[in-house]
Amino acid sequence: MGGRGGYAGQTSRILEPEQAANSLRNVLELERKLEFSDRAVMGGLDRFIERASEALRWIRDIEPLSGTTYASLQPGQRHRWASTVMAKISATTSGAQPPPVPGSKVSPKQTVVKRTPTKRTVGRARSASAKYELDTPLAELKFIHKATRGKLSRLNIATLRDMLSLFPSRHIDYSKITRIGEVEYGALTTVAGRVVRSETVRIGPPPGAAKILINDGTGLLEATFFRQAYLASRLKRGNLVAFSGEIDAFQGRAQMQNPEYDELPSSAASTGTSTGDLQLTHAGNLLPVYPSTDGLAQRSIRTATRKSLDAGLPLLTEFLEDDLRQRHSFPALPQAIEAMHYPDSPEDQREARRRLAFDELFMYQLAALKKKSEWRNRRDGIVIARDKGGPVVESFLDSLDFELTTDQQESLDVFLEDMASGIPMGRLLQGEVGSGKTVVALSALLAANTAGYQGALMAPTEVLAEQHFLSISNQLHAEPLPGEPRDAVRHASLPGKGNRRITMVLLIGSLQRSIKSRIQQMIADGEADLIIGTHALLQEQVSIPRLGLAVVDEQHRFGVEQRGALTKRVPRPHLLAMSATPIPRTLALTVYGDLDITTLKILPKGRRPITTTLANSKARIDQAHQMIRQQVALGRQAFVVCPLIEPSESIEAVSAVPEFERLSAGTFKDLRVGLLHGRMKLPEKQDVMDRVRNRQIDVLVATPVIEVGVDIPNATVMMIMSANRFGLAQLHQLRGRVGRGESESFCILVTSSGGETAGERISAVLENSDGFTLAEEDLRIRGPGDYLGTRQSGWDELRVATIDDVDLLQLARREASDLMADGTLDWQKKFPQLASELERVTSEQITEFS
Ligand code: ADP
Ligand code: MG
Repeated sequence: MGGRGGYAGQTSRILEPEQAANSLRNVLELERKLEFSDRAVMGGLDRFIERASEALRWIRDIEPLSGTTYASLQPGQRHRWASTVMAKISATTSGAQPPPVPGSKVSPKQTVVKRTPTKRTVGRARSASAKYELDTPLAELKFIHKATRGKLSRLNIATLRDMLSLFPSRHIDYSKITRIGEVEYGALTTVAGRVVRSETVRIGPPPGAAKILINDGTGLLEATFFRQAYLASRLKRGNLVAFSGEIDAFQGRAQMQNPEYDELPSSAASTGTSTGDLQLTHAGNLLPVYPSTDGLAQRSIRTATRKSLDAGLPLLTEFLEDDLRQRHSFPALPQAIEAMHYPDSPEDQREARRRLAFDELFMYQLAALKKKSEWRNRRDGIVIARDKGGPVVESFLDSLDFELTTDQQESLDVFLEDMASGIPMGRLLQGEVGSGKTVVALSALLAANTAGYQGALMAPTEVLAEQHFLSISNQLHAEPLPGEPRDAVRHASLPGKGNRRITMVLLIGSLQRSIKSRIQQMIADGEADLIIGTHALLQEQVSIPRLGLAVVDEQHRFGVEQRGALTKRVPRPHLLAMSATPIPRTLALTVYGDLDITTLKILPKGRRPITTTLANSKARIDQAHQMIRQQVALGRQAFVVCPLIEPSESIEAVSAVPEFERLSAGTFKDLRVGLLHGRMKLPEKQDVMDRVRNRQIDVLVATPVIEVGVDIPNATVMMIMSANRFGLAQLHQLRGRVGRGESESFCILVTSSGGETAGERISAVLENSDGFTLAEEDLRIRGPGDYLGTRQSGWDELRVATIDDVDLLQLARREASDLMADGTLDWQKKFPQLASELERVTSEQITEFS
């Protein structure tokens, strides 16, 4: 599109109506691309509109512009105005460029892909859809071929509704045909040409492949269809075909492997002078490409979705109120669903996607806010009065040999405030590894204890639970209790006046059975005040009769059901979730929409940055070992982490047991080398960790059991073997195990793959020390599903919205809170459609919010 200043520059000459209409159309097209941000014309559209209205008087009378200025309109209003103007212009001019209006200007000659008409079917199919409901099971959708139904069920399609939202992963744009002479390697491309050779070859798995060579006048391209030998007899010499896929090169010639293909009617050729100039600009030239499964052809899916749309679209009811839809120019629901599959133009598809992504995010936000407000309204929280807990907490903090950072102090204040308010606290404390979350949580737990309640601290692994038990014992100067198992029961006097005593216990799965039941007994009797255990603790349905505060450490590892179980207790305990994995904003708002978030941004004083390096050769690994020696000589300790315990046949990665044997018998023969992995018995693990803490082990070879929370301030080297085997968050967590003391620390990422191929994740960890940046990076590389553990993220359920929809998410958040602000009962009566849709979506999908 030509320069922005171009339109504003001409101010004197009076335009002809047709000329005015043309430039208006151009400007509005550009403005649409710029999301109606009033940037299509330098200095704003108003001056341009004024000038255009000299020739086209009516444009200023179109709502909602009439009587006001373009600049003062909302983007949605601008969109509405522009659409009306565009429609009028195209109705009055016989312009050469028709605007993308559905169904206009389609000559059958130009039809590229034969398929049933799109938009018009909505009305016509009404009678056919009478037999169906959105919940009609797939098995009863007789209009879909039986074999296809079987395969669709493998894509988790169960109902007609599911068919409607089996959205394509992309569209092939047949209006954008690239000449073969101009293709770029690696690019997703659509080419079209005449078949000049078509043959079957015995390559790949049976029954072999078809090789089809096409020519478009500018070059030759060969497509290989593995396992589809039959195509050779279908795409015959002389036929006109289109291929869409990634271009690769073989022996210098452009190639495609298993591209999408379409047979073009030979009449298509007659519209162009040569096949290279094919004019394939039919309005419906966007062909959907669906996620597929083995043996399910795109064609079969297309037929199935087309028929499902015909049957299903008339059954859909709009649930967004008109106002809201107009405010943001969202298309109507059936239109949006249709356009996701068979859009008239890329913009059409984008608008549809925008609407449906909004729907998803909006429902999530509504569900979260609704839940939050219900929670608030109950006001049945346990009251932990500040004047009770406060003094004890203060004395405890005084007894520590460090001072809280301002961040820590402030978050503790917020927690104590929350717990005194009568409303159950629901809060996420996020903070970088080593930011000191535990001490804040412990203070809150002690406040609960002082007020006479039990407190629980739950960790994802036994090693971490144990470490919490030991380090908290130390901080409280707790003593074993005579007659009770010393490894799992301790007695402490709380600091300060009154000499209050509390009993703390450790509950983990691998305790001896008898000890375990004794501890469970103590918990159930209310004898145990401070309970430290694994997340699984909750699943074992231990009853904690006076539970006042539950702290969940490393929340991202915490199961959704577990959180549910916790919040269902009556009276509802305060909940403090903690996570060292920083949560990108988009996710935080979505996954933790029902929790308040507190962040520890600053690290305690004296932390030194960690130097991270890559070791991808024997020489560098030797250097790393050398460095470990030097550190040990200075009295420091080192970790060597391996992805596996024992060597595996299927995974190529360094394993801990042989690595331990190798290092302890060879490289570090003269050092004290220890081994820690998940399959060791609890007393063994305890013993190893004790020796590490007491500096009786110089080098600890371990599996990622030490990934979370292990706190050995004297350790300064973290060497990560087969680093490419770890996820990004995991690498960052592992690195966070060092740099906790005052000395300079090092992290070495070892990769077996030599050369520069360090991989995206490794480079990210090498380049960034900031967890938040890494988290964003991680999300981008791995996708959200993986990020928080599959079921947990909630993003799995999102079919349309993506993590990049930050703006839409904020929009959804705003709309949802405006709606909720009306009063909970009210909006549900006022917008029953929305309420029932929310109900449906919530019960079906958003179980995590329970
Ligand atoms: P994380 O937030 O990763 O769970 P921890 O709670 O394990 O971090 O704290 C890491 C270490 O920092 C612990 O040894 C803890 O005692 C220490 N620590 C916590 N707060 C401070 C502080 N304000 N000043 C100095 N050290 C602190
Ligand atoms: Mg921690």
